[in-house]
Amino acid sequence: MTTDCLFCKMVSGQIKPNTVYEDDDMLVFKDINPQAPVHVLIIPKKHIATLNDLGQGDAQLIGKMFLKAVKIAKDSGVAESGFRIIMNCNADAGQSVFHVHLHLLGGRFLRWPPG
Ligand code: AMP
Ligand code: ZN
Repeated sequence: MTTDCLFCKMVSGQIKPNTVYEDDDMLVFKDINPQAPVHVLIIPKKHIATLNDLGQGDAQLIGKMFLKAVKIAKDSGVAESGFRIIMNCNADAGQSVFHVHLHLLGGRFLRWPPG
């Protein structure tokens, strides 16, 4: 827990997100500014600021988050039409919340390459 981190405040319950799923390791909630009909964020409960801060010990955690994103894509009905999983790291990628998170986007055609 990092006290000035928005997503840590969601993990602690200080701020209530629109939660889609929760377990001991992760929290999944709807993005407040959705960029597609399906846009959820999958975050670890553990504070990790950026992808650069991941360690070997986080491999299973990140794998679980990835698999959960795919499950939510299936449950949301976008698995067959297609979806995108994105993790932004630092300024050039536009990371705005410094607590690692995975975006799941789907439900519309997603252009490539992004921005
Ligand atoms: P990034 O730009 O990759 O760091 O993504 C941060 C995401 O967090 C953005 O898509 C924001 O819309 C989203 N976000 C910021 N504040 C909130 C909030 N209070 N509840 C849900 N999503 C949020
Ligand atoms: Zn945090």
